[in-house]
Amino acid sequence: MSARKVRLGRIVLGGSAVVAASLATAGDQPRVASIPTPSGWRQHDVHRPKPTVAEPADWSLAAPAPPDAVVLFDGRNLDAWESASGGPAEWTVADGGFAVAPGKGAIRTKEEFGDVQIHLEWASPDPAVGTGQNRGNSGLFVMGAFELQIIDSYKADTYADGMAGALYGQYPPLYNATKPPGAWQAYDIAFRAPRFSPDGALREPARVSAFLNGVLVQDNESLVGGTSWLEAVAYEPGVSTGPIELQDHGHPVKFRNIWLRKLPERRPPTDAERQEPKVVALPAAELDALAGSYAEQAEERGLTIEVTRQGDDLLMRLPFRATPLRIVPIAPLQFVLPYTQGGLTFEKDEKGRAKAVQLTIGDGSPRPLKRVEK
Ligand code: MG
Repeated sequence: MSARKVRLGRIVLGGSAVVAASLATAGDQPRVASIPTPSGWRQHDVHRPKPTVAEPADWSLAAPAPPDAVVLFDGRNLDAWESASGGPAEWTVADGGFAVAPGKGAIRTKEEFGDVQIHLEWASPDPAVGTGQNRGNSGLFVMGAFELQIIDSYKADTYADGMAGALYGQYPPLYNATKPPGAWQAYDIAFRAPRFSPDGALREPARVSAFLNGVLVQDNESLVGGTSWLEAVAYEPGVSTGPIELQDHGHPVKFRNIWLRKLPERRPPTDAERQEPKVVALPAAELDALAGSYAEQAEERGLTIEVTRQGDDLLMRLPFRATPLRIVPIAPLQFVLPYTQGGLTFEKDEKGRAKAVQLTIGDGSPRPLKRVEK
């Protein structure tokens, strides 16, 4: 027999007797547990707030593909695409666009991509047919796994995380910026693929920003896994690329003008490139000897800086900054900004007194300044 036992209790509410049953373990600890979701909302929760309607803007509609773009559809053919189940893409190409061929299944790009900026235009079937999720439904699946929902949300209701602009089942759009059925609508998307450690553990989730008709609908959201219906889907360990896939949900949604640009990675510096200042300690008297005013010898608008000591460092006051900048010593006459490439290199005269300094910041030319005697 299980150690679990059932206890029956009797609670009186408002004069009526209610029999309550609760499960308890042998230690009398309740077995009832909550099952949290990442957002706190249940997937497809009909109580989740619907986004406010926003006026669409057309700043990217019919945006021409930049010269360095990967053109996925230029109005002529589906050569860049194949059926998601193998074989040629059998959707219908017409009038400079193409449409879902209901029943033919999803199509996907032959090439796989990771980090990308995507431009895609779509139009809901006109006249509109159906309600809820059964109304002009398709979808743009980045890496074949993360769906940015395509659906007719123009004056049409469905659960918030399944509306146009939703990262399906995870994030409703910030606004409902959809246009009427038949009107061309533009998606502009920035996608960062998930990153994994060599052992396959997730290091960084996939991130998505998206504009729908010029309105920001997803703001750098972190996906909790593949988008899904009914249950959570975990990331596929180690997978950081995949095809762009378009969904066949049985509705003849139209597409045109699809291109993407691969995004470079922001890499950290290599050990050889890393330049963290190796700070040295200088006697206070040596630091004090460098303090003073230094001026650029210019005809007009010459720069003047003030150098003072603060503890083991110097402060550099620039005329166009309200607060002074700390500069740290890396050699007796060389000081650098702790966080920025640049700093001051002092020069002494034959008597050992500071007589000049050179200011450098970033890629600007070194600026020689002479000490001003007061
Ligand atoms: Mg869909």
